[in-house]
Amino acid sequence: MEEALYLQDSYMKEFEAVVESVKDDKYVVLDKTAFYPNSGGQPNDTGKLIKDNEEFNVVFVGKFSGKISHEVDKLGLKQGDKVKGVINWDRRYKLMRSHTSAHIVSTVIHNETKALITGNQINEEKVRIDFNLEEFDRDAFQRYIEKANEVIQKDLEVRSYILDREEAMKIEDIFKLAKAFPEDIKKIRIVEIGDFDKQADGGTHVKSTKEIGKLELIKLENKGKNNRRVYFRLLDQNL
Ligand SMILES: [Zn+2]
Repeated sequence: MEEALYLQDSYMKEFEAVVESVKDDKYVVLDKTAFYPNSGGQPNDTGKLIKDNEEFNVVFVGKFSGKISHEVDKLGLKQGDKVKGVINWDRRYKLMRSHTSAHIVSTVIHNETKALITGNQINEEKVRIDFNLEEFDRDAFQRYIEKANEVIQKDLEVRSYILDREEAMKIEDIFKLAKAFPEDIKKIRIVEIGDFDKQADGGTHVKSTKEIGKLELIKLENKGKNNRRVYFRLLDQNL
C-alpha cells in the first residue's frame, strides 16, 4: 500500500518516489505520493513526474482499487524508476483554501438551519454545496457567508488527526454529510477547525483559516423539492 503524503503534510510541493507499477504505459503507481486523487468533492492535483531530466505531465490522479494512479501524458516510465514529483501548487493551494472554506460554510448552514449537507464540489473558480432545506432566501445566505467570513478572520488553526471509529462516533455532528462512512472503515481522519468545527474528511486543508481570505456568494439554485444549492468563491484581491 503506497503512502499518501498529502494526508500528513498538505504543504508538500515536491517529493521523491519509486515507480511501483505502470499500466497501459500511462497509469503510474508510486510507493508514496503527495498528489491528491480526485475524491470527496476535491479535484485531483496536476503537476509532473521527473525521471533524470525527462518530464512526464500528470494530467489526472485517481484512486482505483485502493491505489493512487497518476495518469501521465507520455510513455517511458517503468517499474523501479526513481522519480521526483512536483505538484502544481497554484492549483492545489486554491483547492485547499476552497476545501477548508467549504467546511466552514457547510457548518454555518448546518448550525443556522439544521440542514443536512448532501454534497459538495470544489473547483478552481468556485465551491458548490448541496443541502436539504425547505426555506430558502438570498438574504439569509448572504448572512451565512458573512458569518463564514467572520470565522475565517479569527485565524483559527486547522489540524487533522486519526481516531478509532468508536471515538470518532462520539463527536457530535461529525458527519454533516448525509452519507456516513462505510462500516468497514475502522480509522477515521478528523479535520478540526479551531473550536468551530470537526468533520470526518480525507482532503487537504490550509493550516489556518486566514489563508482562505474572503468569500463571496455567487448564486443559489433550487434543484427540486428540498434540494438546494449554493455557489460561492474565494476573493483573491488580498493575495
Ligand atoms: Zn471536506
